[in-house]
Amino acid sequence: MIKPLVALTALTLLAAPAAAQTTTSGDSAWVTPMLQRMVQPDNARRLEALKAMLKEKGIAFTVADFPGSPDSQGVPGHNVVVTIGDGPRDLVLGAHYDAVIQENGKAVDGVVDNGASVVALVQAIEALQGYGPRHRVVVVFFDQEELGLLGSKAWLAQVDRSRIDAAVIFDVDAYGDSVIYGGMKSDTRGVVRGVVQGVCTRKALDCIRFDNFPPSDDQSFAVAGIPVVSIGQQPAVDAHQLWLLMHKGRDSGLAQGVMPRVFTLIHTPDDNMGAVEAPAVNRAFEMAFELIRELDEAYALPSR
Ligand SMILES: [Zn+2]
Repeated sequence: MIKPLVALTALTLLAAPAAAQTTTSGDSAWVTPMLQRMVQPDNARRLEALKAMLKEKGIAFTVADFPGSPDSQGVPGHNVVVTIGDGPRDLVLGAHYDAVIQENGKAVDGVVDNGASVVALVQAIEALQGYGPRHRVVVVFFDQEELGLLGSKAWLAQVDRSRIDAAVIFDVDAYGDSVIYGGMKSDTRGVVRGVVQGVCTRKALDCIRFDNFPPSDDQSFAVAGIPVVSIGQQPAVDAHQLWLLMHKGRDSGLAQGVMPRVFTLIHTPDDNMGAVEAPAVNRAFEMAFELIRELDEAYALPSR
């Protein structure tokens, strides 16, 4: 996620929020050992940790390299791609694996932003392989999101975008029990929004819709006109503070200096395992699976 000060300047229309009760049914014991492995001193070793996790689970993947750019000081990038099924049209599930590099040259632990989403999607891959979607599901672990969404922009320039029915991006899904979602300006038919709200209702989740959402790789899909949603999680109070900031900016009514904790946590040494709530990561896994399964139905394809 890119910090909100940039997003605050991009204020647009107001919208009414919605709320319900919260549950998570699955076991989350898998989270900590897997997530711990994403804590690495640099992004090259985060990439290796991700590849090792996929290999151990017998998940085939490819690495889609892209050239360096001025924004990356010429450093090339590496998106990791897993394909499930061979349907005629695509659904994309994405999360960036790179972390912010501090002034001392060392990566932050980057479990909130965005290691938790990465391991949630690794779990979702196994579940989706078991489910067998009609669409081809392309799971992409993006590089260089923190440098300006470079990985998602590069990937979309490399693939046949006309095949993609919709995309779901996970970013900052490590704690809290309210689901925040947004970035849906390209979802003009409202199919993605309907699916998100259906999953939220069915799983009795507290889901809050944003018209203005902190930017992440969803923006690259929206610019390409592909229906997309970005999914995050926050504690309920933080989620509503964030909503007010993103939709009302300086007129949020929040007391001076009140800022959702996430903005003082991501991109800092505080983004570490101590901030992680395993049930939230497990919820992200379940949501990733459910959203793709529902989109697979919603964008109906002829049965085989
Ligand atoms: Zn992020």
